[in-house]
Amino acid sequence: MKKIAITLLLIFSMNLFGQENYPKDAFRLPLDIPIILAGTFGELRSNHFHSGIDIKTQQREGLPVYSIADGTITRIKVSLWGYGKVIYVAHPNGYTSVYGHLQKFSPKIEAYIKELQYKKKSYEVEVFPNYGELKLEKGELIAYSGNTGGSSGPHLHFEIRSSISEKPTNPLLYGIEVADATNPTLEKLFVYPLSQDAQVNQSTDKIQINYSKQPDGSYLANKINALGKIGIGFVGFDRQDMAANKNGVYSVSLTVNGKTYSSYDFESFSFGETRYINTLIDYEHYGQYGQRIQKTFRSPGNNLSIYKELYNNGTIDIREGLSYNVKLTIKDYKGNDVTLNIPIEGKREEIKIAKDAEKTDNFVIAKKPNNFDLGAAKVYFPENTFYEDFYIDLKKGQDTVTIHRNTVPAHRNFTITFDVDKYSDEERKKLFIARLDSKLRPSYISTYKRANTFTARTRYLGTYTLAKDTVPPKIRTKNFKEKQWLNNYKYLSVHISDDLSGINTYSATLNGEWILMEYEPKRNTLTYNFDDKILDKKQCKLVVTVTDNVGNTSTLSTSFYRK
Ligand SMILES: [Zn+2]
Repeated sequence: MKKIAITLLLIFSMNLFGQENYPKDAFRLPLDIPIILAGTFGELRSNHFHSGIDIKTQQREGLPVYSIADGTITRIKVSLWGYGKVIYVAHPNGYTSVYGHLQKFSPKIEAYIKELQYKKKSYEVEVFPNYGELKLEKGELIAYSGNTGGSSGPHLHFEIRSSISEKPTNPLLYGIEVADATNPTLEKLFVYPLSQDAQVNQSTDKIQINYSKQPDGSYLANKINALGKIGIGFVGFDRQDMAANKNGVYSVSLTVNGKTYSSYDFESFSFGETRYINTLIDYEHYGQYGQRIQKTFRSPGNNLSIYKELYNNGTIDIREGLSYNVKLTIKDYKGNDVTLNIPIEGKREEIKIAKDAEKTDNFVIAKKPNNFDLGAAKVYFPENTFYEDFYIDLKKGQDTVTIHRNTVPAHRNFTITFDVDKYSDEERKKLFIARLDSKLRPSYISTYKRANTFTARTRYLGTYTLAKDTVPPKIRTKNFKEKQWLNNYKYLSVHISDDLSGINTYSATLNGEWILMEYEPKRNTLTYNFDDKILDKKQCKLVVTVTDNVGNTSTLSTSFYRK
């Protein structure tokens, strides 16, 4: 009896603290090729953890994509950004599979979506078919792999989510085999003095520590002298067999004299918490150098649920005269690991590098709303925009304001409101709010225009200005010339571009009827497929209209022949 109780308790606690029982044989692979990853689950991306795996598709598009099990399509979306063309399939066992960046859908689904696109006269559509309306069998062709949306090369983005909670889970938990006998790589080690009195190697600022490989394959850091509350951070990646891609690691743990202080992994997370990635990484370092240091300690404002164990928030209190053996272990999903031993001695030393504590006239209290008047514009931070209080650096200028730098992450949108009183109505039409990058190149921010003010909502600190776009978009034919015979052509393609504010809308008609032109912003191309409509006229008139974000419009009128 007692034994049964203990066993039950074990099973119970496994489900609470360990891995759930994920079905290992329920699903087939979404592709017919060996699985090589260009990205792992939980990988650190900008403002989010990667919610699936990126499967390499042999540097090409058009590989058949199959449903991993029987199911029904619950959602299809065609978008210029994000997942591009994407399909969601709910399976009877409670999981939903997601297939993103698709080139095109299977004939059955393609016909379903085309009908909707012609009805709505829009390339971008989203539909939630009724349960059972679009049923699929395990292994049924659903689409062809592609590179649509926010994808920088051909691959399949693949997810497995819980259908109820919508929490994405690591697809490798379901028995997908990825050849991986390669250990993760540790690139850099950093130690952070965290408390007021803390110091590390004569520094009150974070410090990089060198380490060397030992005969047993582990790494040993140079001996550190420290005092006070400190934390550990590292830069690292995982490389699998058969590919050079630097992917994210699966788990991280930190022990101090044998006791676990911090341990987290990428079994699952929720979309609601994904932006807290900006508290897991050293955001200031990222903003400055574009490199992500993962902290093994939990910073203020970090609400991530990925921690399996956490003691003292993963921070270490170093006392004078005591020795600490800190051990960092990074693993990939297969359990290949790299370990780094960090010997620390509790010792007070003379400070030679002092953290330069930036002080400005303006202090932001994260928990409170904050308003600042910068002359040309007002900025409003709602409460809890930021994770921590900080001195904000604000600069006033002529039509330009600088709101600190992108070294502090904002969890919520804040608003910037420009006064446009001095501009005429005509000028206001062509003006928009732009963010200036480090090379002072402007990029369009959605601008809400009211009587005398323009407002933008953003989560990025930095420099904002009013910019003017008076130049309409450019349109030119790409694969044909005016009055050409196009009998054997499958596609019509047109090149569109805008110099400053960017393209907002586009539409095309053929002999006066709306036609679907698929827009690929990465190639500045609109494409029409001749299969869409049978043309009954020899001479065809194509009209393409493109409008930029401030309303400058261009129209291309051209004709061609087709039998
Ligand atoms: Zn992806």
